Amino acid sequence: MPVKEEKRPGTLSTLMRYAGGFKWLTIVGCTLSALAMAANMVPYVCIWLVARDLIAVAPNWAEASDIALYGWMAFGFAVLGIVLYFAGLMCTHLAAFRTAVNIRKQGMAHLMKTPLGYFDSHASGLLRRRIDGAAAETETLLAHNLADISGTVVMFIATIVLLFVFDWRMGAAVLVAAVISAGAMFSMMGGKNAGVMREYQTALDELSKAGTEYVRGIPVVKVFQQTVYSFKAFKAAIDNYSERASYYEGTVCKVPQAVNLTFTEGTFALLVPVALFLAPGALESGDFAGFVANFAFYAVFSAIISTALAKVMFAASGMMLASDALSRINEVMSAPTLAVADKPQVPSDNSIKFRNVDFSYENSAIKALDDVSFTVPAGSTAALVGPSGGGKTTAASLIPRFWDTNAGAVLVGGVDVRDIDPHVLMDHVAFVFQNNRLFKTSISENVRAARPEATREEALAALAAAQCDDIIAKLPDGVDTVIGSEGTHLSGGEQQRIALARAILKDAPIVVLDEATAFADPENEALIQKAFAHLTQGRTVLMIAHRLSTVVGADQIIVLDSGKAVDRGTHDELVAAGGLYARMWEDYQKAVQWKIAKGVA
Ligand code: ADP
Repeated sequence: MPVKEEKRPGTLSTLMRYAGGFKWLTIVGCTLSALAMAANMVPYVCIWLVARDLIAVAPNWAEASDIALYGWMAFGFAVLGIVLYFAGLMCTHLAAFRTAVNIRKQGMAHLMKTPLGYFDSHASGLLRRRIDGAAAETETLLAHNLADISGTVVMFIATIVLLFVFDWRMGAAVLVAAVISAGAMFSMMGGKNAGVMREYQTALDELSKAGTEYVRGIPVVKVFQQTVYSFKAFKAAIDNYSERASYYEGTVCKVPQAVNLTFTEGTFALLVPVALFLAPGALESGDFAGFVANFAFYAVFSAIISTALAKVMFAASGMMLASDALSRINEVMSAPTLAVADKPQVPSDNSIKFRNVDFSYENSAIKALDDVSFTVPAGSTAALVGPSGGGKTTAASLIPRFWDTNAGAVLVGGVDVRDIDPHVLMDHVAFVFQNNRLFKTSISENVRAARPEATREEALAALAAAQCDDIIAKLPDGVDTVIGSEGTHLSGGEQQRIALARAILKDAPIVVLDEATAFADPENEALIQKAFAHLTQGRTVLMIAHRLSTVVGADQIIVLDSGKAVDRGTHDELVAAGGLYARMWEDYQKAVQWKIAKGVA
C-alpha cells in the first residue's frame, strides 16, 4: 500500500500531542525550572556585593555591616531555587509519566485496530519493545531535559547580562572562553561531523543486531561444530564498529574535545591576564576595591559556564534520543488499520462465500489467490486441498480478516466481512490455526480466553470434549496448572487439543480450521481427530486439509493450485473428473499401498 508522504511534526509537538491535557503540567514545570534558575543567579550577585563591601572597608572588616544580610539573601535564594526546581521537576515528571502512559495506550489502541496478519510479519515482542522503549526514552526528555533547557535559557540570558553589568572587559574574557568551548563542542556534532557521528551510531546499531543474531545462532554453531569465524557478519560488524569508533574518537573528537575542556575548565586562566592588564588603570582611577570585587565575581561566576554547556549537551542528546524513539513508534502508529464499517451488518446465516477473490501479499508480485470463488452452505463441511503454496492458508486467513482482499469479497452469512463488526465476526467464527498461542496462565484460563464469562464447569466440559483428560491428569495442579511453569511443557499435539477445547467452548456456528497434525504422534493424532469431530458437529466447517484421508467425507472439496480454484466437487466427482485432485488421490493411494507393503515385508 503506498504510504502518503506527510510532513512529520517535530519531536516536541509530537510529544505534546501524546501529552494531551498534561501539556500544561510540562509548561508549568518548565516555567518553575526557569524561575529556579533565576533565583540561583542571585547568590552570585550577593558574592559580588560581599566582595565589594569587604574590600571597601579593608582591613577594618567589622565595618562591613551588610555582609550577614547578603549571606542570608544568598542562602534564601539558593533554597528558593532548590524548592522551585523540585516543584518544577515534580510537574515535569508527572507529565512525563502520563505522556509515557498515553504513548503506550495509543500504541496498543492502534495495534488493536491493525489486521491480524500484521503480527505475522511483525513479531509481537518487537512491537512491545518498540512501544515500551519509545515511551521510556521520551521520559528523560520530558522529565529532565525540557526543564533543564528552559533553565538554561534563563541562565544564558542572566549570564550575558551579568557578564557585562560589572566589567564588560572581564565579562568579554569569560564569554570568549565560553564561545570557543561551545564552538569546539558543536564542531564534534555538527557540520560534516554529523555524518561521521551518524555512521558511528549506525555501526553501533549493526553491531548490536549482529550480536543478537550471533547469540541466537549459538545452537547452530554447536550442532554443526562451527567456529565464531563462521559468523562473518558479526566479525564484520565488530571490525566496522572499531574502525568507526577509533576514527570518530581518535580523529574527529580529539582536538575539539581538548579545546572544549581547556576553555570550560580553564576560563580562569584567561581571566587572570586580562585582570593584570586592567589593574594599573583601576589603581589610577581610584576604584581598586570595585575592580577586585568584579574580579572575584567573574572568577567564581566563570565556573557556571561549564555547567551550562553540559546541560545544553545533555538536552541535545535527550532531544535526539526522544526523536529517535518517536520515529520508531511512528512506524507502529503508521501500520495500516482495518477499516470498520460505519453501519455494520449482521450475518444472516452461517454460510461462507468467496466471490472472485484476488489477494497478493505486500511486497509480492504473485497473486496468492487469483479470482477464487466458492460457497460453503450453512451446516456443510468444505475442505481446501492442493499443493503446498497453493493458497489454502491464505484463503482461510481472509475470513477473520488477517488481511482484506484486493478484489472481490469474502462473505459470512451473506455479508461482506468488511461490513461486519469485528467483534460480531469473531463471535460468529471459531478459528483453529496451527500456531494457536497458549498464554502463560492456567489451562482453564487458556480455554476460557474464548469466552471469559464461561463457568469453570463449561471449560472442563470443553476440555473433556477435546480429549484433554489425559493431559490434565498428568499435570500437578490439573486444570489450574500454569502452562510453562515448573517445567510443565505441552507437546505440539497436546497444545493443539487445548486450542481445540478453546474453540469448542467458544461454540461459534462457523469453524475454520487447519487440520495439520504435523506435531502429533499417532496417539495424539487419534485424539485430535476425535476432538475435531466434536468441534465440527452441526457447524459450517472450512478445513485446510493436508492429508487426503480426512477429506473423503467432506460435502465439498476445493482444490487450490497456484492461487486458483482449479477443481471443486465431492471426492467421487473429483476422482471421476480426472483433474489435479484425481492425480493427488492416485499418488496418495500409491503412498498408502507402499506403506502397507513396506510394513508387511
Ligand atoms: P498453502 O497454505 O496452500 O501452503 P499459502 O496460502 O501459505 O499456501 O501460500 C500461498 C502463496 O502465498 C505462496 O506463494 C506463499 O509463498 C505466499 N505467502 C504465504 N504467506 C505469505 C506471507 N506472509 N508473505 C508473503 N507471501 C506469502
